[in-house]
This record gives sequence, structure tokens and C-alpha cells, in this order.
Amino acid sequence: MRLEKYLVLCGVLSRRKIKKAILEGRVTVNGATEIDDSKDIDEDNDIITFDGKIPKFKSLKYYIMNKPAGYITAMEDKNKKTVADLLPKYIDKNSVFPVGRLDKDTEGVLLFTNDGQLSYNMAYPDKKLEKIYFAELDRDISESDIKKLETGVVLDTGYKALPCKVEVVSKKAINITVVEGKYHQIKKMLKAVNNKVVYLKRIQFGNLKVDDIELGEIKEIMREDILI
Ligand code: URA
Repeated sequence: MRLEKYLVLCGVLSRRKIKKAILEGRVTVNGATEIDDSKDIDEDNDIITFDGKIPKFKSLKYYIMNKPAGYITAMEDKNKKTVADLLPKYIDKNSVFPVGRLDKDTEGVLLFTNDGQLSYNMAYPDKKLEKIYFAELDRDISESDIKKLETGVVLDTGYKALPCKVEVVSKKAINITVVEGKYHQIKKMLKAVNNKVVYLKRIQFGNLKVDDIELGEIKEIMREDILI
């Protein structure tokens, strides 16, 4: 296996940073500093160190949760219920983390993994990963509101949201597809057209959906199931 790939699988750093770290001489193979990231190593017999320590070769795990409302997206909190409280016992809470975040009152697709590289890729703005939200609204949505949303509204932070797609589900409900993930993005976008989100569910994250997962339940998936 290539040295760089081995270190990615150990989760020490993202792929981009590993190349640089190897060049900086932070990696040794059988006691000798190795600066060639493409060096072929034998992961069963060679002794690899990163910053003087032997990293653990871990198997990468992927789980999708259908997050219910009432839980914050964090792995621990002194006072509030967290999504970690919903993980079954067979998943080590110290070994996975959620990719991105959903608000406490938001439901839907939440991915957990220990794959730092994938997490980085999914959250990286340039990747423009599509996220689809179903939003129920306080007021009817008009054609002109939809146009404004689709061309990009200015949020209360002064940030101009990127163009998005809006599909009308009913007078007071939409599916909205965005390619970014600012704090309270959907709520703020709807606020910008004088409306209010009263219920929010992420129905798709990239290609991942939760149609077959009960609220609060989790399902293990394979890396190949995630199309990125
Ligand atoms: N946009 C929001 O406003 N909240 C979420 O949880 C996700 C996207």
C-alpha cells in the first residue's frame, strides 16, 4: 500500500496535509525518515511512525442516522441531549463523529464516520455537495419569494446565499436544495423573504437519504454507498 494511503487510513491527517507532512520529514518507515508519499509499504510488517508515534490502522466506519428533533449535533454536552446519546452500544462514541451539523430542532440525514478525509471532502465548500431540506413554513410562499431564493438572498449576517433550487410541495411547504451549509442557513434564507421555518428535515445529504430509517435509528453503510 502507498505510504500516503496508509496514513490516510490511520486518520492522522487529511490527504492534502499528509503529503506535506511526509515531505517535512514527520514520517519514518522502519526507523528511516521517508519523504516519498508514494513509497510502497507493507502495512503488516513495516513499522511506520508519524511525529514519533505509531498510528493505529483503523477500519473506517460509516453510519447514517435519521436525526430526531431535541438533540444537538455534538458528541457530548453537560446539559443538553446530544446525537451521541442515540448511538447504539456497539458503536464506540469516541471513535466516530458527525459530518456537519443539524440544529437541535432539525430532523433528517446525519452521517457519522471516523473517516476524516471524507468528512473534509463533504464539508469542503468547493465540492458544492447538494443538501435537500424539506421545510414547512409559517406563511404561504409566493412565486417572487421563490425567485429571490433561487437567485440568492442576503442573510441577516450580510452574506449573500448561493443560488439554490426550490420545489413547491404545498403553499406552506418546500423542498430546497442548497450547496452550502452556513449556520441556520435554511432558516435564515426563509427569514430573508419574510417567512419562518416551522419544521425542517434534511431529506438528502449528497446522495444519502433516510427513507428506510426510523427517526432516531441508525444504519451502517459502506464507503461505496457514498458517492463523493
Ligand atoms: N439550515 C438550518 O437552518 N438548520 C439546519 O439544521 C440545517 C440547515
